This record gives sequence, structure tokens and C-alpha cells, in this order.
Amino acid sequence: MIDRNNNKLFPNRLAKIAANRVFEASMNRREFSLGLLAAGGGLALRYPLATASGSVPLQINGARLNGHIKALAEFGKNPQGGVSRVAYSEADRQGRAYVLGLMRAAKLDVAIDAAGNMIGRRAASDHSLEPILFGSHIDSVPEGGNYDGVVGSLGAIEVAQTLFENNVTTRHPLEVVIFQNEEGGLIGSRAIDGQLTEKELDLVSRSGKTIREGIRFIGGDPAKLSTVKREKGSVAAYLELHIEQGGVLEREKVDIGVVEGIVGINWWDVTIQGFANHAGTTAMNNRQDALLAAAKFIEAVNRVVISMPGRQVGTVGRIQALPGAPNVIPGKVILSLELRDLDAAKIDMLYQKIRGEADQIAKSNRVTFDFKEINVNIPAPTDARIRALIDQSAKELGLTTKQMPSGAGHDAQDMARLAPAGMIFIPSIGGISHSPKEFSRPKDIENGAQVLLGALLKLDRANL
Ligand SMILES: [Zn+2]
Repeated sequence: MIDRNNNKLFPNRLAKIAANRVFEASMNRREFSLGLLAAGGGLALRYPLATASGSVPLQINGARLNGHIKALAEFGKNPQGGVSRVAYSEADRQGRAYVLGLMRAAKLDVAIDAAGNMIGRRAASDHSLEPILFGSHIDSVPEGGNYDGVVGSLGAIEVAQTLFENNVTTRHPLEVVIFQNEEGGLIGSRAIDGQLTEKELDLVSRSGKTIREGIRFIGGDPAKLSTVKREKGSVAAYLELHIEQGGVLEREKVDIGVVEGIVGINWWDVTIQGFANHAGTTAMNNRQDALLAAAKFIEAVNRVVISMPGRQVGTVGRIQALPGAPNVIPGKVILSLELRDLDAAKIDMLYQKIRGEADQIAKSNRVTFDFKEINVNIPAPTDARIRALIDQSAKELGLTTKQMPSGAGHDAQDMARLAPAGMIFIPSIGGISHSPKEFSRPKDIENGAQVLLGALLKLDRANL
């Protein structure tokens, strides 16, 4: 029974009540809700324990989760208040050891795969089903923050711990995956979807080690990478909780972002060829100024991208003028063009328009444009059914939601190639990320993990 006079002894009283399923069965739903309203006050409204289906949602432990995030921030801690825990560094290795301990405490059956990903398995009631994967990464950029990847990784472990403590066995096997080296090019997740090439293993990572050396350093075996690859259909679904890394949710005071997909990123190097000549003796009407053409081009990129409705973005982020002297007309410019959107066809349409503008500029400035494709990341849409489950889970908790694209890359984009995927965003204060100033409120982190748990359980019951 609820002891209404004893609330103060149990700050996380709702969790204890939620675990008491026998109790629920002894009361009808109306009485149960009323009892909770009395016991939990406003909290009961925020986390109604009786849902439309009549079942009791499990409750993650927000204080424990936030405590784990704080503890992990010690590994690679920098003076500015964030972490420098780049993949394959000593800090990364120690942070991973700490997280492996949390996975074991959550009674996950842990292993490090040949690529160095940490995987914690949980047995299922139906052995014929493929596993549901959920997780994120714990490596950081140099001088990074304490939340990027960490919230989703430790949130996933908290969900597993909650399932264990409540004796819940899911229909699907579960796998908590902590992907290695997300920040250095999605190395762990690309090993799983088979995209990581042998050649890439010899690239030098930010730690100073090659990726091959790094994988060995964290307990993987680069010679056996092929064993890590999973086939399409061998994963039932993938879920990832992550900080937004932008400022939309905070600005609009929305609790949860339901990610529509990870945008495609196309990147070109553009070379503009003019003619370098004397800046003093060449008349203004007789110049082939590549930098002037570049200026017009940059303006045109911006104009084309904003001329269409939608959330596409286009950037010229790097420019080099040659020969680069105050008294020489620039004869050659190399600049970057980057376009992002959820729809690859839209990126292509924007690109064609920009090419058209470049042709015009070339003619009127007597220069040539050459576009060289450097990198194409195709958009990775999330699964509409999973988006609906995330949205529903959030709304059942009284949280507000917004459908939104992810402008940043995530492990989820690789997993989306293997299985239906979903992503949950929580607000990043000030939209700051990849910085020691990165911050997400403890309550938002708790909300995110609770939505992750809710969506996972719904996904487990659904037949995708
Ligand atoms: Zn991340």
C-alpha cells in the first residue's frame, strides 16, 4: 500500500511504486491514479503511472543517471570544464573501463567486438526474434563537452539497469552498443554496417595512433573486422538518445526532439581559374579576377539555398586565394561548397541551380569553374513507425515534442542502413556543442532516458 505519510523517505517513490506491480493489480486504475496524485503531487501528473493500456510504466533513476554522467566526466577532464577524451587515448580507455563496469552492474552480458565496440546483451523471451540495438558513443572531440554521446550511452545503460531491477524480460534480445570513435568518422558503427575499409585502418586518428593501432589499444582485433559486420535484417531496430547540439528545442521550449533523419552532406571543392596579373597595371575592365568571381559565387550559394522553402543549408566554409599577395590579382581560388538536407533529390536540385549560377559568373568574369566531389553522405531517414512510438512515449509522460532533422552526423545513420532506426533529442542549452560549455539539464536527461525506455518497450511489443 502507499504510505501517504512516508513520502519523504522515498525521494524516488514513484519508481518504487512502479516496481510494485502486485499493488497495481489490487486497485482499479482510477483509484491508483488518485492515490498517486496524493502521493506524488505534481509529479504524478508529469509521469502518470496508469497509461491507456493500464500497464505501469517503469521509471528510470534520473539521479543515478546524472551521477554516472558526472563520474564519466572525470576521464579526460579538461580545465575548461569539459573533456578531451578522443578515441584511443588513455582517457578513452579508462572511460571505457568505467562504462564497462556500469554495463556489468546492469547485468548485461558484455563483450568487446573485433572493431572495439562495447556490446552488452540481454536475453529475450522469444529467441526467434532479432535484437533491438540502442546506444551511442563516449569518445569526444578534443576539448569537447560532457554530454555529446554520453547521454545516449549512459541513458541506454540506465534503461538496461531499470529493466533488470524490475525483472522485465523483453520479447526481443536487447543489445546496448557503445560505438567506438564516433567523432573520428563513425568508425565503430561503420564497421558494423560493413563500410569501414581496410585502407582506412591506416589513417592516423586524433590520438596519434592509426585506427588499426587504436582498435587494438581498446581491446579489438582489426584482423577480424569482418566478424563485426551485420547484415540487413539481422537487427530488429535501433534507437539512440542524443543531445540536440543545436538550439531549436531550448529556444522553442520543447522537451523532446523526434528526429526525422540525419541529413545528407555533400561536399565539393570548387576551383575558380582566372588569370594572375599586376594589380597596378591591369585595367579594371581587363581582369580575370578569380576572387571576385568567388565572392559572387558565395553570395549566389546563399541566395539559391534560401530561395526555397525547407530546412536545407549551404555553406562555403573555406577559401584560398592564389597567389595571395596584396599587389597581385588573384588568378586562382579554391573553395569548399557544402550542402545538407534530409532529401538527396533536393541537394541535387540545389547543386544544379548553383552550377547554373556559376556558369553565369564564369561568363561575365571570364573565369572557369571546376567542381570536384569530395564526399557524399547520403541522408539517413529514421523509421516513421518508430518516430510515432517515440512521440507517443514522450506525450504519455506529459512532454512536448517536435519533429526535426539532425544536422549533425550520428552512429544512427549507419544503423539506419541495417534496420529501422529512431533518434530522440533533448535540449542543448544555448545550442552549444563540441565545447566544454556544452550543457543539458539533468531533468531533460532524465526525460530523454525515460522516453528511450518507453519507446524501447513499445518497439519490443510492436511487430515492425
Ligand atoms: Zn555524438
